[in-house]
Amino acid sequence: MEKQELLRSIPPVHELQNMEELLEIEQKYRIPKERMTLWLQTATSQLRQKILAEKDVPDVSAFPQYIYNRVKRQAKRLFEPQLKRVINGTGTVLHTNLGRARLSKEAIEHVQRIAGHYSNLEYDLAEGKRGSRHSHIEHIIQEVTGAEAAMVVNNNAAAAYLILRSLSKDKEVIVSRGELVEIGGSFRVSSIMEESDANLVEVGTTNKTHLRDYEQAITEETNMIMKVHTSNFKIVGFTASVERDDLIKACNQHNLIFYEDLGSGALLDFKQHSIGDEPHVSDIIKQGADIVSFSGDKLLGGPQAGIIAGKKKYIDHLKKHQLARVLRVDKMTLAALEITLKEYIKSRNPEKHNVPTANDILKSSSQLQEEVNEFMERCGELNNIKATPQRSVSYIGGGTMPDEQLDTFGVFLTSETISSKQLERKLRSNETPVIGRFLDETLYLDFRTINDEERELLIEVLTIIDQTL
Ligand SMILES: *Cc1c(COP(=O)(O)O)cnc(C)c1O
Repeated sequence: MEKQELLRSIPPVHELQNMEELLEIEQKYRIPKERMTLWLQTATSQLRQKILAEKDVPDVSAFPQYIYNRVKRQAKRLFEPQLKRVINGTGTVLHTNLGRARLSKEAIEHVQRIAGHYSNLEYDLAEGKRGSRHSHIEHIIQEVTGAEAAMVVNNNAAAAYLILRSLSKDKEVIVSRGELVEIGGSFRVSSIMEESDANLVEVGTTNKTHLRDYEQAITEETNMIMKVHTSNFKIVGFTASVERDDLIKACNQHNLIFYEDLGSGALLDFKQHSIGDEPHVSDIIKQGADIVSFSGDKLLGGPQAGIIAGKKKYIDHLKKHQLARVLRVDKMTLAALEITLKEYIKSRNPEKHNVPTANDILKSSSQLQEEVNEFMERCGELNNIKATPQRSVSYIGGGTMPDEQLDTFGVFLTSETISSKQLERKLRSNETPVIGRFLDETLYLDFRTINDEERELLIEVLTIIDQTL
């Protein structure tokens, strides 16, 4: 067909406006007429461009469908939540791409209560006057970490930035080269340092740093030694790093601040359960660290936040800095964090905790196997999708204890009608997306990160997809 003829075949907007399917969309999302007209104009103009460019032009009979699809996609994208819950079948408990920690029921309820009502966020109920948002949570952090003082900011990257900027601007900060790592693809100590105007002094080599390297680097301009948890980056083999004790001693001797970015910050003794060998945050404070910082949504299992704990003189200084206002957390974060942190006052044994992150990490493979078996019984109805139990290992994620492999159980999902890649795509594009991983090119769902409710939902999702195959 000639270009001109194709162009003439584009249905006019006033006709499209009365197309039944489009009227349905208009009503479903209550879209104003003018907006609908604009979208139709855009869609027809896109079709015109395609014809002129002679590229991907649909069949003339499919022109109305083409326009309908465009408008529908636009409406869905704008009116349906784009941030969706997903079922995490990767087994990685703290998956940064999947939102890291999920909150406990109690924490969510408290968020709901505080978000839906007025609160004493910055109001002192005893005095009847202005209060501080730090006050609600500081005493809990003190109790859990043993620190003199504490505060909370947006995330751990913000914590590092605030600490460096307010305490070490234009001063020298010594960091071991072996610890200058990039975490999660976007957190770089050296970049944060540069933004903060603290002067980074790198010491040692990538695999070896000795105490004398630090000591030789100290000048009149030095005011801090920073230690960074190397999280998901690990050099294995011929390495040496300086013990925290020795660094703290050197700091005390030379009147320097010792700051440690702990990354995850363990508040439970996972060691007790033979998982990792992270020291408890309170042990680090007891050793004499001046300031530590860690994330709220990693091992702690709370909302995104950066927790700063340490000596009162430093924390007071941070609280007064203008940046503290810039980096402050909102009431929903404080509500979730308050409830999550309270769990840690009860015991250091992770078994005793009502924090989903801790529970997921501790789940034994025999418990997971039982869940898989029960799930298998309920998969009997599926015709075109086959589930096969399979043992594997899961990781904690979020840069936490990167070497720790947790024995786990899950299922391989296969289909005779479609490939593993197609099955993966179907699960991922479901209304409640299911995210798995490939093991030897076969789709695998690790049950460590799938809870009771999600297993029910998973069966529903698989049943629906099964019927389309
Ligand atoms: C994860 C991590 C950060 C960044 O923490 P966010 O809370 O994601 O900002 C900083 N430092 C270390 C060592 C980390 O592991």
